Amino acid sequence: MNADFFQGYKGEALELLKKYNVRVWGQAEIDTTRGQFKGTVLPRSENDDNKHIVVKVITGYNIGVDVSTITKMKETGYKKANYAIPEKEFPTTPNLPNVKLFGTGGTIASRLDYRTGAVIPAFSPGELYGAVPELADICNLNTEKVFAVFSENMGPSQYMALAKAIGKEIEKGIDGIVIGHGTDTLHHTAAALTFMVQNSPVPIVLVGSQRSSDRPSSDAALNLMHAMNAAGNGDIAEVMICMFGPTSDDYGLLHKGTRVRKMHSSYRSTFRTIGDTPLAMVNRYSVTPIKKDYKPRRKDKNVQILPFFETKVAMLYYWPGIQPDALDSLIDSGYKGIIIIGTGLGHVNKELYPAIERAKEKGVMLFMTLQTLWGYVNMFVYDTGRDLMAKGIIPLGNMLPEVAWVKLGWVMGQTTDPEKVKEMMLTPINDEITEREPYNGYIVLQGGVPEVEEFIKKVRK
Ligand code: ASP
Repeated sequence: MNADFFQGYKGEALELLKKYNVRVWGQAEIDTTRGQFKGTVLPRSENDDNKHIVVKVITGYNIGVDVSTITKMKETGYKKANYAIPEKEFPTTPNLPNVKLFGTGGTIASRLDYRTGAVIPAFSPGELYGAVPELADICNLNTEKVFAVFSENMGPSQYMALAKAIGKEIEKGIDGIVIGHGTDTLHHTAAALTFMVQNSPVPIVLVGSQRSSDRPSSDAALNLMHAMNAAGNGDIAEVMICMFGPTSDDYGLLHKGTRVRKMHSSYRSTFRTIGDTPLAMVNRYSVTPIKKDYKPRRKDKNVQILPFFETKVAMLYYWPGIQPDALDSLIDSGYKGIIIIGTGLGHVNKELYPAIERAKEKGVMLFMTLQTLWGYVNMFVYDTGRDLMAKGIIPLGNMLPEVAWVKLGWVMGQTTDPEKVKEMMLTPINDEITEREPYNGYIVLQGGVPEVEEFIKKVRK
């Protein structure tokens, strides 16, 4: 068989494909010592080794089958896929808002490269228009690829670069900003941009997708349309995340950048507002605020770009039986501030006390947040809380742990004066600490449950 049939496969993997006459793009049944896999054999990507055959299984996921486990393979069909996106010129319509889309990478920017089998970014306006022509009814679009990374590779220097790029666009008079981003750390970036881009005159909407556009169940197109609508036509000028509301594709939700978290590894409705209700519901045609006290779009607002970050800040997730060395090693590595993620109302075990005292002596600032995510740190209720506060740990109310880490990095990038750091940490910029959680926030308005849907129908009218 011609080498083209095995696109890029080498070594043991190639031997096996040849032995059983299974081609790339062939539908295959692969028997292994771990059970049978059925799916389409994909071309080998640049990053794959010779020890796996990559198969797109029925759910749409790509999995690597370890060649050492394969006992038999059979080709049952053959269909060459073409995932190329046609480029079409994005039309400009005079009365539509101008939106800037910054690409950073992630699944939303991805399609399967039929040549290499790798998931690669596709982000030009032409490609987006080719893939989602409805976007042209919502806004005029300009795109810029700032990064092309999966979101585990986003971090402080990327946050600062993004904040500066957003500032430039706002100065030029853009009507709204959308940022395409991997979902895994979308909420970290949303928090960072909330602190780094303040008093924005226009909406700043972060959007991702859980499933890439080559999968039938992809949420990429709908999320993009919702995000473009929120950015171009919506009235909420805050840093927000826009993703699926319920598990169905009925509507999207806008979540405040400081109160949101990825809560499910694979559901499309993975982002949830924590400790509050989401900001708004969104579809292709409208944005319906749920919270009334949002920061509105206003042309006369002067944006402030504050791109600061001290990277020597850490998070420590408490585990039962934790020993002082866990904290000591952070102190000894020169960390200046540490967010502890404690149990219940904000507790850690007594064995950690010596390390906590050492942190205080060395001027390392410690803050308390919660593993429960919902609710407030309250260190007055139990002795442990009182002990910890006496040792200098500062409770952070209902600030989410990741938000606290981002904020501490941002604050310590500007000052190391402990009193100033404490004051800035405890002064909310956009609801990272709220006075109270709404009584219904814990379950209601998160979508997907019948009684919640009923409630939402009432709000939507
Ligand atoms: N791993 C990907 C990322 O966060 C997942 C996604 O985009 O949804 O970049």
